[in-house]
Amino acid sequence: MLRQDTIASLITPWGVSGVGIIRISGPESLAIARRIFRPSSGGCSWKSHHLYHGDILSLDGNAVLDEALIAFMPHPHSFTGEDVIEINCHGNPLILQSVLDLLLQLGCRMARPGEFSERAFMNNRMDLSQAEALAAMISAKSAKACAMGLAQLKGSLRKKIEDLRLLLIEAIAQMEAEIDFAEDLAEQKSPAVPPQIVAAEEQIRSLLSTYKEARVYAEGLRVVITGKPNVGKSSLLNALIGRKKAIVTDIPGTTRDLITDTVHIGGIPVNLTDTAGIREPRDMIEKEGIELVWNHLAEADAVIVMLDGSSALTDEDQTIIEKNKFGNVIFAVNKSDLPAAWNIEDAKKFVPADKKIIRISAKFGNGLEELKKTIIASHGDEDKSAGAVMVINLRHKLALEKALRLLQSAEENLMSGASMEFTVFDMREALDSLDEITGRKITDDILDRIFSSFCIGK
Ligand code: GDP
Repeated sequence: MLRQDTIASLITPWGVSGVGIIRISGPESLAIARRIFRPSSGGCSWKSHHLYHGDILSLDGNAVLDEALIAFMPHPHSFTGEDVIEINCHGNPLILQSVLDLLLQLGCRMARPGEFSERAFMNNRMDLSQAEALAAMISAKSAKACAMGLAQLKGSLRKKIEDLRLLLIEAIAQMEAEIDFAEDLAEQKSPAVPPQIVAAEEQIRSLLSTYKEARVYAEGLRVVITGKPNVGKSSLLNALIGRKKAIVTDIPGTTRDLITDTVHIGGIPVNLTDTAGIREPRDMIEKEGIELVWNHLAEADAVIVMLDGSSALTDEDQTIIEKNKFGNVIFAVNKSDLPAAWNIEDAKKFVPADKKIIRISAKFGNGLEELKKTIIASHGDEDKSAGAVMVINLRHKLALEKALRLLQSAEENLMSGASMEFTVFDMREALDSLDEITGRKITDDILDRIFSSFCIGK
């Protein structure tokens, strides 16, 4: 589907850089490029996918706006599937703005966020899962998340969904044939569940099992440090991220708000949050800060409960231990550089046996390597991502869950001897749900929502 209007946008970030690239896409791209570009020597034959050197001229042709490299990518062999021109300008925002203004004067419209990708999707250059993979890859926070985005961009999920579709279509065809011939059958047997349904369920379950790990690589583990005031929470955050982000003092109650930063441990982004020390609040601000902590703890993937090994445990420590001991928790006994006021064996009496207790010194770095390893192990030791098709997007996860529910319902209908029509209905709905992932079947408002969440130039 080729569209009528021609759009333009900067596709590299705004700001000072060596080069800034402007993309023009649509039927007028080449005509506009011819008007503004003066080749430096030897002319310019606008050969497909070739770079030409020359000047970008002002509207009246009297001024040079920039010296640039320009490339023409005719449809359908371009990112959007339309005629595309890309201009490599010098990366000064003033220059880039003047070239963009020129393009608008010549009839281009500014591209909306995600509009290049939307056009690529509309022109079948990529399916919806690939367009979303591109967005995920660009904003990925770890090398693994980049690799997962790239695999999906290359069509790994699309292929998997197409295979699942074929299974469902085969099963539906068989069942519809049975419905057609049912009237001819003197006696209907209780039908067996087609193997395609069982296989599709199995494959969807296996896809869904990758989401948790994919999310960790994409968004990071949420790890919250908690403990009473002055045990060394801020010191630990600073030690793990390698710089002074949180204020460290011996005045209790200094951290009021949540302080978060990301550190990469073993290739996994870990979003660490330092929190207000838990104690009986002395004022409203501290009270609010402590309430924030409790909410945040509930959403964490792992909690580090910090205790001060150099002074006796108090009721405040006991309360914090009690409230956290059944979650994914690591106990860090800090200040190991000072004489111990209590024996770590004593802590084992009130901490569940499967929980790890690590002696550390946030100030001097002792025990931090072990703590880091334990944080990473808290999301599972196994790396399932190698070679597997990963589900990295919540929308895809929800669509797969819905498809699975419908297949299970189809199976139950068959087993209970309900009319075959009900089963076929569920199967078709399951198919629709899979088609939402690739965008074969999707409503305009969902498409709008997806592409408008992309940033400008994508
Ligand atoms: P928070 O209130 O739990 O965030 O604790 P802070 O990180 O602000 O530390 C409170 C005090 O304990 C400061 O004076 C730190 O220098 C000190 N402290 C933190 N960690 C250690 C440690 O490992 N050893 C020693 N000796 N002091 C520490």
